[in-house]
Amino acid sequence: MKYRKIAADQIFTGHGMAPDGAVLVLSDDGTVIDLVSATDAGDDTEKYPGLLSPGFVNAHCHLELSHLKGLVPPGTGLVDFLLQVVQKRSALSVDVQEAIRDAEADMEAAGIVAVGDICNTTDTVEIKGRSRIAWTNFVEVLSFRDETAAERIAHYQSVREQFLPLPDTGYHGMAIPRASLVPHAPYSISPRSFQLINEASSGQVVSMHNQETPAEDELYRSGQGDFLRLFSYFGNTAAPNPVTGQSSLRSVLPYFNGRQTLLLVHNTCTVESDLQFAREFGAKHSLETYFCLCPNANLYIENRLPPVEMLLAEHANIVLGTDSLSSNYQLSIAAEIHTLRSAFPGIPLETMLGWATLSGARALKRDDLLGSFDKGKKPGVVLLDEKLRPKKII
Ligand SMILES: [Zn+2]
Repeated sequence: MKYRKIAADQIFTGHGMAPDGAVLVLSDDGTVIDLVSATDAGDDTEKYPGLLSPGFVNAHCHLELSHLKGLVPPGTGLVDFLLQVVQKRSALSVDVQEAIRDAEADMEAAGIVAVGDICNTTDTVEIKGRSRIAWTNFVEVLSFRDETAAERIAHYQSVREQFLPLPDTGYHGMAIPRASLVPHAPYSISPRSFQLINEASSGQVVSMHNQETPAEDELYRSGQGDFLRLFSYFGNTAAPNPVTGQSSLRSVLPYFNGRQTLLLVHNTCTVESDLQFAREFGAKHSLETYFCLCPNANLYIENRLPPVEMLLAEHANIVLGTDSLSSNYQLSIAAEIHTLRSAFPGIPLETMLGWATLSGARALKRDDLLGSFDKGKKPGVVLLDEKLRPKKII
């Protein structure tokens, strides 16, 4: 067998930094053989300036919105952002498939090896069928009313079925179709719709946008606030949810009693008591929760950042996502780390790299092959320079 030996100024293994001088040994197809000292490695080592990391996991993306790049101005706030996306996504005469193709290629070049991708449509099926990235397709339900819940779920099930024949070969080669039904957000799903999604997603990885704006908690606490504008746009006079007097997360988490793994996305307004509730509820009902941060999108839409230090202090499982090109300038996990490093310089780089690699792989149940340089895995290799610019090596 032919080996490839690579080294750099630093190697992040997925668990932490390797000792100085470590050399990563891989087989031809990118399988990790070992991590050895320079003396044991012998000759023929390729040496790179910078830091080597396992390939990145983008836990939250909307590949199908790639054609909206640069079309929604920053700083609108969430409700106006959503209204613009709804109005613009189908009204444009741009080539949707070309934009999807370019975004997929950019993600691969930026060292991303797995993506948790939100799908409202089947627009990305074709490109995913020949992509080397490992896709987890979250078929996202919007369902505002109990009366039409069953009909809406049936529609999204038919979207989901289009993703199931996809060969999940990538270069990570897990032949399991990955597509689950997921709720869009606490403000767009009626109680009956939540129940049906819970039944349909038992034991699966699911995702939900969570507490992205203060208006979300306000809607659950008082039934008032900015979201009423969104509902009236869709012709609904009432909110989909009952007023509970509690935060949105406390109100909707109890719908998930099917032992799911739940990725909560954004969490910009999540507070300590929400996390404590999530932890207690999760322990009781075998619900595993991950908190996905998309800092560049949060700055773009609401000009705020999630409470990263609080999430760390509470030992939350943290992962990273890019969100879509409608609310980001690029789909790059390295760029998300760059933003977090500027805002939270006290958090070590290796902690953030852990969120971007092994934690993300665990959240998407891909850690059997991805996320770290453990022997036998095939995680991809990405090189970061001193400005954290990424380059795919393998
Ligand atoms: Zn999103």
